[in-house]
Parts: sequence; structure tokens; C-alpha cells
Amino acid sequence: MKLTFSPYTLSLKHAFTIATSSRSTTPVMLATIEHEGIVGYGEASMPPYLGESHESASRFLSKVHIEKYESPFLLERILGDIDSLEPGNHAAKAAVDIALHDWVGKMLDQPWYRIWGLDLNEIPYTSFTIGIDAPKVVRRKTEEAGAYRVLKVKLGGQNDKEMIDAIRDVTDKPIRVDANQGWTDRSAALKIIEWLASKNVELVEQPMPKAQLEDTIWLKERSPLPLVADESAVRLSDITEITDGFHGVNIKLMKCTGMREAHKMILLARSLGLKVMIGCMTETSCAISAAAQLSPLVDWTDLDGAALISNDVFRGATLQDGRMMPSSGSGIGVDKLGT
Ligand code: MG
Repeated sequence: MKLTFSPYTLSLKHAFTIATSSRSTTPVMLATIEHEGIVGYGEASMPPYLGESHESASRFLSKVHIEKYESPFLLERILGDIDSLEPGNHAAKAAVDIALHDWVGKMLDQPWYRIWGLDLNEIPYTSFTIGIDAPKVVRRKTEEAGAYRVLKVKLGGQNDKEMIDAIRDVTDKPIRVDANQGWTDRSAALKIIEWLASKNVELVEQPMPKAQLEDTIWLKERSPLPLVADESAVRLSDITEITDGFHGVNIKLMKCTGMREAHKMILLARSLGLKVMIGCMTETSCAISAAAQLSPLVDWTDLDGAALISNDVFRGATLQDGRMMPSSGSGIGVDKLGT
């Protein structure tokens, strides 16, 4: 069994601004697992604010000695060993996890949604993300999102109401709001959430900083809209910590080390009565297609990461009637372009 990896840089179609940062590229690491003539594909997406980079992923993946395992089917053991090599490196770990899952699915000649026993008819609508911008730009991006049934809007900047009003000039589509920890005063947060509830907003993601869980618990008791944890819930062990402060959790492969842990997180969250979103970073269709395999299990999908870039190198899940649908291919259901 052989692991290879190569750095790649995604170009974003538009500069992307959230409450805490702005950028126009995203570094990713593309990985493969080769064994018995089958190639599995994986990807690490590493937005700089999460602390990983081409350098850190290269260094970490060089320490993964995949050749010592006899088969990619030993997913639990291999991924457990890799996770215990070092803390952190969640995206780099996800690259190996996704490539192993792709290999196993290809060897079984089945897509993962079938291996997991899921029904594609249960996939909810995905949202299209609009970053913090001037009203003119927000109106243009809203028009560009015509194929999507739901919008996701980044708030927590200086012009929250202007952003929503700009979208409402153009469309009545449901909006999901992501404040990215941008509101620090709980009473002010409640006021804006009450206003948002009158604007056909479905939910609010990460209204307050992760460190302000007590304030978030206060907010949850009063909020007319569901609150969804993103920055507050990274891995499986975080789920039980956030149930008092949130109605739901946004699970991302790049946060939680990949498909295996994401599946466990979804089942745990459900058992605790939490709603579940599956989200993404800016990613190629490789990681998006991997996440799409899990999407029949969730209440909300936010899988527009590949639609926000101009240099995708995979073909896989596609937007169909507002839903991000996996291809019929085995594994994670992707083809590498140009090979
Ligand atoms: Mg978020």
C-alpha cells in the first residue's frame, strides 16, 4: 500500500470575506492511496486561519507509514494510529481518511452512501455561501446563485442588516446565517436574531465566540431561531459539550479528520437530539463528493465549496435541483480530470 501527496492551490472565483479573515486562494493537499491496482483519492483543504499549511501537511503525511498495513480495509486501526501520531493536523488526517474510503468503496464496487445504507432521496437542499461584502456585490452574488434553493450569508461584520436587505432586494429564498463568532454581546446578538427571524432566516450558525459558551446558553434559551455550532464543535468529543448552547452542529470533514469520524459524529449528535449540518471549506470536488456520501443523514447541507473555485481537478458530486448529489461512481464517486 502506498500513500502519495502533492500540494495544490485553489483559486477562488471571488475574494471571500468572513467575520475574521479575507482571502482569494486556499492551499490544499491532494493525496492518493494505491494498492492492488486501485487508486483512492483524498484531499486536505487548509484555510490559513485553521493553522495547517502545505508545509505542515507535508511534514505530517511524511510520518504516515501506510506501507506497514496489509490492507486499506483496516480503516479503524489505520486511522486510529494516524490520529495518535500527533494532535491537530485534522485536514491532513482527512486526506488519508478520504483516500482510504475511496479505495475501499472502489474495491467493493459501491459508493459509500450504499455501504452506509442511505437513501439519496433524503438529501436536503444545499446552500450557496455569500461572504461579507458591499450591498452591490451581495446583490450580484445573490443573482449568480440562481441554481441554489437556499443561501448562506456570512454576518458578524459591520453591515449585517444591509447584507440581508441587499439579498431581500433580489430574492425571498430561505437564508442561513453564519456569524463566525462575530457577535460578542449576547443582548445585541438576541436583537439581531429576532430581526433575522422576520426575514425568512432558517438558522444562525456560531453566533458568539467559542469561549462564550455561557452567553450562548443564555442566547439559546431565548433565540427564536435554531443555533448551530461550528467553531464550537470540531471533533467527536466536542459534541456532548455543546448540547446546552446549540440546537444543532455543523460537521466538516476537514475539522473532524474525515468520513469515519464525521459518520460517528452524526450518529452521536442525532442520539443527543441535535440537528445536523454537513459543511465544507473551499475544496475540490474530491472532498465535496466525500461529504456528499453522508448527506442523506443530515438536516442541512452546505456543500458549495467546489462551486466557489475556478480550478477544480475532480468531477464528482453535482448540483441537481438544488441538492448536491453524489455521482453513481464507487468509493467517493470522483474522476480525476486530465488522467
Ligand atoms: Mg461556519
